[in-house]
Amino acid sequence: MKNKTLLTTLTLASVFCTNAFAQIQLSGELTQGGLMIGKTQADSVVKLNDKVLPVTKQGNFVFGFGRDDANTYTLSVVQPNGEKEIKTLTPKKRKYNEQRIEGIKKSIMKPNPKAVERAAKDSKQVKAARTIFSDTTAFANGFIAPIEGTITGVYGSRRIYNGVPKYPHYGLDYAGKTGDPVKAPADGKVLLWVPDMFYSGGTMIIDHGHGVSSTFLHLSKSYVKAGDTVKQGDVVAGVGASGRATGPHLDWRINWFDVKIDPALVLKISQ
Ligand SMILES: [Zn+2]
Repeated sequence: MKNKTLLTTLTLASVFCTNAFAQIQLSGELTQGGLMIGKTQADSVVKLNDKVLPVTKQGNFVFGFGRDDANTYTLSVVQPNGEKEIKTLTPKKRKYNEQRIEGIKKSIMKPNPKAVERAAKDSKQVKAARTIFSDTTAFANGFIAPIEGTITGVYGSRRIYNGVPKYPHYGLDYAGKTGDPVKAPADGKVLLWVPDMFYSGGTMIIDHGHGVSSTFLHLSKSYVKAGDTVKQGDVVAGVGASGRATGPHLDWRINWFDVKIDPALVLKISQ
């Protein structure tokens, strides 16, 4: 029989710190836009509220919070031996800045019906790719920056194009020259490559497993195609200025399914 007092102490301790006895270890920032990588015993049942989060053979699982997520979540883990641990998680609120962008072409600010139709088709294709679940475990092995350029745009900023407020920006923008090599931030499989989407131009999505994906926008070229497997650091594409872009740069996005994650926070996760 197990000592009940000891068990209670260990479970309480694990809520406050990561220790060898904790059933749940979480890496990542508990904040809006944060990606959380969890580790527990393999074969545990993990739930975020009522949603079951699949666990890899190594015991990893993942979830994330959107830009404006103001919810409180219950994360529960039931181990194979029946022991249960519950954590209450409230992502910290963030303040986002405003970014004014002038000089966007009229044809893009007020797209014609054909372009609107094209943009809707693009968006459908991107959304469909992001619903895919694969049991690839790359998401748990850390991410590297896809390019070494200066950061020129951040996640969450409210964008004002030619004075008109638009959707917030969800990517991390890096300065670059057309053709500069873009590397895979983590291992994965190419889900989509379209050279000429209306807004995002050359667009690539790479699946890192369990709903975590990278998206690159405004690319000038691709060295891979849908279905290809890539390794972290592989050159997969070239920087460009295609679609709605004022000049060549790389826009890198991270998603957990349809939840838009801040790539800068993903880079900070220590493994
Ligand atoms: Zn961007």
